Amino acid sequence: MTTTETKHAIKGGEFLIRETPAHEIFIPEEWSEEQKMIAQTCRDFVKQEVLPHLDEIDSMKDPALMPALVDKAGKLGLLGTSVPESLGGFGMSFNTTMLVAEELGTSHSFAVAYGAHTGIGTLPILYYGNEAQKKKYVPKLATGEWKACYCLTEPDSGSDANSGKTKATLSADGKHYLITGQKMWITNGGFADVMIVFAKIDNDKNLTAFIVEKSFGGITMNPEERKMGIKGSSTRQIFFNDCKVPVENMLSERENGFKIAVNVLNIGRIKLGSGALGGCKGTISIALKYAKERKQFGTAIANFGAIKHKLADIATHTFASESAHYRAGQNIDDAYDVLVAGGMEAGKARLKSLEEYAIECAILKVHGSEVLDYTVDEGVQIYGGMGFSAEGPMDRAYRDARINRIFEGTNEINRMLTIDMLLKRAMKGTLDLMNPAMAVQKELMSIPDFGASDDSAVFAKEKKVIANLKKAGLMVSGSAVQKYMMKLSDEQEVLMDLADMLIEVYVAESTLLRVEKLIGIRGEAACAIQKEMAMIYLHHATEKAAQAGKHAIYAFSEGDEQRLMLMGLKRFTKIDPYNLKDARRKVADYMIEKGEYPF
Ligand SMILES: Cc1cc2nc3c(=O)[nH]c(=O)nc-3n(C[C@H](O)[C@H](O)[C@H](O)COP(=O)(O)OP(=O)(O)OC[C@H]3O[C@@H](n4cnc5c(N)ncnc54)[C@H](O)[C@@H]3O)c2cc1C
Repeated sequence: MTTTETKHAIKGGEFLIRETPAHEIFIPEEWSEEQKMIAQTCRDFVKQEVLPHLDEIDSMKDPALMPALVDKAGKLGLLGTSVPESLGGFGMSFNTTMLVAEELGTSHSFAVAYGAHTGIGTLPILYYGNEAQKKKYVPKLATGEWKACYCLTEPDSGSDANSGKTKATLSADGKHYLITGQKMWITNGGFADVMIVFAKIDNDKNLTAFIVEKSFGGITMNPEERKMGIKGSSTRQIFFNDCKVPVENMLSERENGFKIAVNVLNIGRIKLGSGALGGCKGTISIALKYAKERKQFGTAIANFGAIKHKLADIATHTFASESAHYRAGQNIDDAYDVLVAGGMEAGKARLKSLEEYAIECAILKVHGSEVLDYTVDEGVQIYGGMGFSAEGPMDRAYRDARINRIFEGTNEINRMLTIDMLLKRAMKGTLDLMNPAMAVQKELMSIPDFGASDDSAVFAKEKKVIANLKKAGLMVSGSAVQKYMMKLSDEQEVLMDLADMLIEVYVAESTLLRVEKLIGIRGEAACAIQKEMAMIYLHHATEKAAQAGKHAIYAFSEGDEQRLMLMGLKRFTKIDPYNLKDARRKVADYMIEKGEYPF
């Protein structure tokens, strides 16, 4: 960054109403040498310790295998990436911890065990624990000496997490809480020493969180769940029967548990997205290799246009998702730095910075997990019959990917949250959506400006497409709010459409900005392929936003009003024709030449 280019911190959700200059975003091509070394350590670990043993891990014949792998990761320091040095960790930046999650994302069931231990298992104590709790638990969790799980879900309480029935009652001597209840789907349940357990004290409305050691007693569990995928990840039902938890093991305050659960899941969400990116890149490399080797009709299937289309498209979606992930990650780090410089305690600052970008976290969870499912599905297709064989690598990739749309908040819940959080910010006055939305309404009534403009700058025209997509999003969501008012939350189908528009705006803009910045660094000629990917994704995003917008408009308007809005949508989702077939061929040919996911 030159000295004249200062950053103007963007607020969470503000991307919808603000233009971001390319120099303000972080791009993955800027990883430092140290970050690259950390990534390489993770890659080596997965290659040496995990990938050769996938069948053994998934068979669950040796229950000691997964905890032993967690121990090995601990020895390499990979469990303490988010933990400050004072508590035995490495205190890495948030973006670096996302990079670690990405690299470990290729490790199938291990990635899930790792995420549960270092994320939802450790972070509640790190961010909400008092000094004594942090000192007692965090250093041991950072090395893997103790392993953690997170017990929120119950048989009748999944997405509606605050409705759990598990009870905590104060003992007669006031020294313990007695926890009784049933938890379900608990990752690492089979071997965790420390459990973050959510329960309601007496008849409280909200959950309270407790740190429970397995050794406290009163804990039994069902055998391992038999699952579609991530079979090597321990998943248990856990029963608490008058489990005696010392009062000092309450985490934070009474009834603060739901807040803890939500905020910690928020971190898990964006990291799930980065883990999915790793899965995408690994799958693409495997599919690419196969496409080069497999011959039909006398030639490698990689030479067929239909296969090139798939390879280029999954790589483009992955590249796009990656652009948005690390842009958001850096925003989180920047916000953290500002808060810490202002005197805020580090843990609080980390939580606050993540809360600020909760909209982006939800967007990236949805996008990352769906790009992964798209990628593994096309991976199976590229493999043909061998893709359907349990002997080939796509079988496991396909099955293991699927969970990501379900846990850490289902993608439906996350889509709804995205819009809900955006509107709440607007209502609180944190985000001014009203004025931009009114400006769009005014523009709709005016004659389009066909005046000449200077389109010589990099992506000048494409940035106008993004600006218009934002207007489309504002127009449709503004009209939906006007129409339904407080009842908008009952119109989930419309909320899904609005969320899709928002997701596409964020990801397409991030991709363009990444390539623009990259062109500034390496020059246009060196970024020809990335430019093609930005164009492919922009067209995809525009089409998807146009479709989602159309469906929403159909749902809540009719007559002249509908016609006007549909005309507006057409105007705001206009994009010049581009030869996407040629673009995908160029991307695919480049990938074929490089032999693995090359971006
Ligand atoms: C392998 C695995 C590991 C897991 N690990 C953990 C763990 O370590 N700790 C933990 O606490 N939990 C864990 N979970 C639980 C997971 O977080 C839940 O499964 C998830 O939150 C969804 O809850 P549910 O399964 O009860 O589905 P439900 O909530 O019953 O949802 C079913 C469907 O209804 C939809 N739905 C629900 N509510 C709404 C609504 N208001 N509006 C629209 N649609 C809605 C959902 O999107 C979904 O499509 C795990 C689950 C699995 C499968």
